[in-house]
Amino acid sequence: MIPFIDLPYAPDALAPVISAETLAFHHGKHLRAYVNNLNAAIAGTPADNLSLEEIVVSSEGGVFNNAGQVFNHNLYFSQFRSPSEGNAPSGAIAEAIDKAFGSFEAFCKEFVAKGASLFGSGWVYLSADKDGGLHITQHSNAGNPLKEGLRPLLTFDVWEHAYYLDYQNRRADQLHALWAIVDWSVVEARLG
Ligand code: MN
Repeated sequence: MIPFIDLPYAPDALAPVISAETLAFHHGKHLRAYVNNLNAAIAGTPADNLSLEEIVVSSEGGVFNNAGQVFNHNLYFSQFRSPSEGNAPSGAIAEAIDKAFGSFEAFCKEFVAKGASLFGSGWVYLSADKDGGLHITQHSNAGNPLKEGLRPLLTFDVWEHAYYLDYQNRRADQLHALWAIVDWSVVEARLG
């Protein structure tokens, strides 16, 4: 049984970047449906004894689609906090970003460009490889970097359900706005 996670902040804590209404649907309806569908699919199968990460790496088809979406959304909803001006990483994660992309500004530009240009539904990810090098990757639908042996650090959801209530068709506007709510201490902790 894979748990449905609670939000680690109040429903209105991310406004106006992400409204309470969007969270009510995105977390309360979309994520809950992925969790329910996954648990229905794995009930009574060997996958019922695996961790979420193990299911993501070992599954295909409908089980993968739901497990991937639970993993992606758990990571996504756990990485935010209330908006703050000039929000930026510090410490080891800031050094790794500078090393890989030249500067935080250059990293943000590439991350938003890759999220905005992903055709259809999916995710843009920042991940670390075994040597600590950072990578920005695009994934369609329920895809994620776990399948490629990378360690996921940060992700923005580019499915329309993530932004349509607040931003309508303006996907890039939402991606730019999200930098104000990233909790970089959470991202740094994922770096290990
Ligand atoms: Mn979503």
